[in-house]
Amino acid sequence: MNDKSHVIKPLLGNSYPTAAYGRGVYIYDTDGRAYLDGCSGAVTANIGHGVQEIIQAMQAQAARISFTYRSQFTSEAAEALGAKLAQWAPGDLDYAFFVNSGSEATETALKIALQYWQEQGRPEKRMVLSRWMSYHGITLGALSMSGHVLRRKRFVPLLEDWPVVEPPYCYRCPFGKAYPSCKLACADGLEAALQRIGPDYVAAFIAEPIIGASGGAVTPPPGYYERIREICDRYEILLIVDEVMTGNGRTGKAFGIDHWGVVPDLMALGKGMSAGYTPIAATLVSARLIEVIQNGSRSIMAGHTFSANPQSAAVALAVMNYIETNDLIAQAAERGKQLHTGLKRLMQAHELIGDVRGMGLLCGLEFVQDRISKTPYPLQTCVTERVIEAAKRHGLLVYSAAGAINGQAGDSVIVAPPFTSTSDEITLLLERLDMALADVAAEI
Ligand code: PMP
Repeated sequence: MNDKSHVIKPLLGNSYPTAAYGRGVYIYDTDGRAYLDGCSGAVTANIGHGVQEIIQAMQAQAARISFTYRSQFTSEAAEALGAKLAQWAPGDLDYAFFVNSGSEATETALKIALQYWQEQGRPEKRMVLSRWMSYHGITLGALSMSGHVLRRKRFVPLLEDWPVVEPPYCYRCPFGKAYPSCKLACADGLEAALQRIGPDYVAAFIAEPIIGASGGAVTPPPGYYERIREICDRYEILLIVDEVMTGNGRTGKAFGIDHWGVVPDLMALGKGMSAGYTPIAATLVSARLIEVIQNGSRSIMAGHTFSANPQSAAVALAVMNYIETNDLIAQAAERGKQLHTGLKRLMQAHELIGDVRGMGLLCGLEFVQDRISKTPYPLQTCVTERVIEAAKRHGLLVYSAAGAINGQAGDSVIVAPPFTSTSDEITLLLERLDMALADVAAEI
């Protein structure tokens, strides 16, 4: 093999194993090593690898037609997928705008929110508020709404300088309080921000139901989203929920926000929507918003060449059907309990685990030097990277959720295996993680 690679990797100069094939919860490299996919790649491969039903759906659609352009044709696959999403989604989120990545899905939500107010003669409503410790994507609009310090840093001059509010991060409450005596000060922070800025200038508020990449499955306290919805309604602000990581069954319900019975105005989907079998994502839009746009300019100013292509739509539809047929959302809830209990047990054995959190099969571990004071490790100790590398040596993949808070604190990983994991595979995952954490504790 030619030594020189022409592919730009995340870390230039590092070597990466070459994936050969995937079966179930395992990925095999070209050297014959097997990796237990403990994080579904980037919390994406929700039904595992190599599922025959999906491969057949891919082949069947490819045999008919793979590409059509959205301004020329619709397709049976895109129509059926739109209907299926409307069926799964809460409330009146009845319409889907198809895109290709989570970043495009949140950025399209931002554009639709602005357009919604413009159509009603309120163009000054154009800011989107978000939270520190959030990640909504890497394109400039999505990054403008993201409170992920490390990912923003290089591009700050290009980003909108929109205000951010404190996250519902109970482990290190930004207000130094504790639930329930805090009375949800974090949610009320949105109201305070709106009063300061003036709601006439704000189009929307965006939030991940459970904070993923920028904190490691940070789960809000009970009542948080109900309060957020009330505040949005009171000040006429649209609520955008970013379900790119939490959606399509990951947390043990169809969507993360369903845990709190709240209906957002816009919802961004990606990742698990196609379980990684093909790139596709979507912005779900409330019927009320669509009505305003239909009575106004009639066209949403967004879209990409590959939007709603029948090939990706057929794959995502097959994935949703597979999840329904095999009752995999209930399985995610069930296996999630086993995983969470197992991680809590690991916490008893490993001092460096400061917190275990999450819902369903989206679990997070935060690492600390000292449990009582919750002192983080210094950045140069690279605890997250060490855990990921040690896990890999033991044949286990976990996902980094570090570096978001201030580029220094916040060593955490996400554990999020496929919903199809068996009970034995969850046990094996925990055993391998146990060995990896012991290695890291010995190293540092
Ligand atoms: N939103 C959330 C909540 C995410 O976790 C991610 C990806 N980690 C994105 C948006 C961006 O998605 P993509 O990488 O597909 O652009």
